[in-house]
Amino acid sequence: MAERRKIALIAHDKMKLNMAEFALKHQALLQPFQIVATGTTGTRVAEACPGLNITRMKSGPLGGDQQIGAMIAQEEVALLIFLVDPLTPMPHDVDVKALMRLAILYDTPMALNLASADILLPAIAR
Ligand code: PGA
Repeated sequence: MAERRKIALIAHDKMKLNMAEFALKHQALLQPFQIVATGTTGTRVAEACPGLNITRMKSGPLGGDQQIGAMIAQEEVALLIFLVDPLTPMPHDVDVKALMRLAILYDTPMALNLASADILLPAIAR
């Protein structure tokens, strides 16, 4: 199995700012990894942290979540940080379920909120 050296970042709706702030706070830990992110999330994170190695996938609604799901299925992802916005209706619900199912199946560490991401990232980056 290839070493898992990618960290996947996806933030829905109003959670994008939280993701950019998280990346800025943890920039040094993220630095050695290849960051993969859905389109708009990747743009926000790149604006906050221009020095990170970020590969932007398609936007989530256009298939970006599924592209990251494929990387999870290939066991390339060391950590998935997936910030779903709980205060919106559930337009992303099918994408959320599909990605969570793959992360569970491939035993991929997954943070669904910032408190968990704060704990998991240093553990993965160690
Ligand atoms: P985005 O995709 O980062 O391109 O907005 C995430 C989503 O909304 O599914």
